Amino acid sequence: MREFKNITTGGSTAVMKQFAVIGNPIGHSLSPRLHKYVFQQLGINATYSAIQCIENQIPEIIEQLRSGQLNGINITLPLKRSVIPYLDVLSKHAQAIGAVNCISIKNGKLIGHNTDWIGFQKALENANIQVDGVTCIIVGAGGVAHSVGYSLGMNNAKKFIIINRTSKRTEDLKQLILSIFPNVKIDIAKWSELDSKALYQALIVNCTPVGMTPRVDYSPVPEKYLVPSQTIIDIIYSPFRTKLNQAGQSIGAKTISGLPMLIHQALASLDIWFGEPISEKIQMGELQNFLEKYC
Ligand code: NAP
Repeated sequence: MREFKNITTGGSTAVMKQFAVIGNPIGHSLSPRLHKYVFQQLGINATYSAIQCIENQIPEIIEQLRSGQLNGINITLPLKRSVIPYLDVLSKHAQAIGAVNCISIKNGKLIGHNTDWIGFQKALENANIQVDGVTCIIVGAGGVAHSVGYSLGMNNAKKFIIINRTSKRTEDLKQLILSIFPNVKIDIAKWSELDSKALYQALIVNCTPVGMTPRVDYSPVPEKYLVPSQTIIDIIYSPFRTKLNQAGQSIGAKTISGLPMLIHQALASLDIWFGEPISEKIQMGELQNFLEKYC
C-alpha cells in the first residue's frame, strides 16, 4: 500500500503510465495485484498502486490526475460519491447510478465512470444467469446495491425485493431503480415476510459486507430461506467462498462469488483508460485462478 503523501512519478509518466485505487481502508484491496498481473501478461508498461485517501485528500488526488502524474484511478469505499463534484463529465451510467468507481482523462477533462455495474453484468453473462421473470432479492442498499440494481434493471429484471437493515437507504435504492426503470415492481421486505413463491427460483444478491474476512462465520441470509432452485451471488470476494455461498452450495443452489465482478470491473476500467479492449486479451480463467489464492 502506498501512503497518500508519497506519490512520485520519477519523472517518467510519458513512458510508464501510473494508475491507482483510492479509498479507506485500502490495504485489503486486490486491485493492485489484479492490474499488475494484467500489465505483466500483456507487456503493458504501467504501474498500479493502492492509495489510502480520506475525503479531504481528494483534491490532491485530483491535482495528480490533472497534472498527469496519475493517468487514471479507481475509487472504492467510502469515496464513490464524494469524488463526483471534482469531475468535469460523468458517463450516463455513472450519472444514473450516482456513483463513480473509475476516473479517466480525455482532452484535459476528468471523466467519471461506473464500471461496477459492468462487472456485475459480465458476471451474470458469464454464469449464464437470466433475470427476466425472476424475483431479484437485493440484500443491502448501499453503493454496490445501486450498481447491482441498475445492472439487473438493464437486464430486464421486472420484480425486485430489497432487504436491508435501515429504511432510509432502502427507500433511496427503491427510488433510484424506479426512476430509471419505472415499470418494475419493487417490494421492501424482511426475510420472515417472504412466502415460498417469492423464494422459489429467486436470484439473491448479497450487497452487504456480512461474511467478509475476517468475520467469515456470518451470513446475511438465514439458511432456512435458501432453496435449491435459487441462484445466489455473494458480492463479497474475500473469502472466495463465503458462508452464504457454502450454505447455498450445500443444498444444490447455483452460487457465484464476487470475484468475477471485481475482475470485470477492473478490466472495464482498463478498456476505458487505454481506449482499447484490453479485457478481450486476457485469459479470465487464469486471472481468476491467480487471484483466488489471495482472496
Ligand atoms: P456500503 O455503501 O457501506 O453499504 C453497505 C450495505 O450493507 C448497507 O446497506 C448496510 O446497511 C449493509 N450492512 C452493513 N453492515 C451490515 C450488517 N452488519 N448487517 C446487515 N447489513 C449490513 O458498502 P458497499 O459499497 O455497498 O459495499 C458492500 C460490499 O460489497 C462490501 O463488502 C464490498 O467489499 C463489496 N463490493 C464488492 C465489489 C465486487 O466487485 N465484488 C464491488 C464493490 C463492493 P444499512 O443501509 O442499514 O447501513
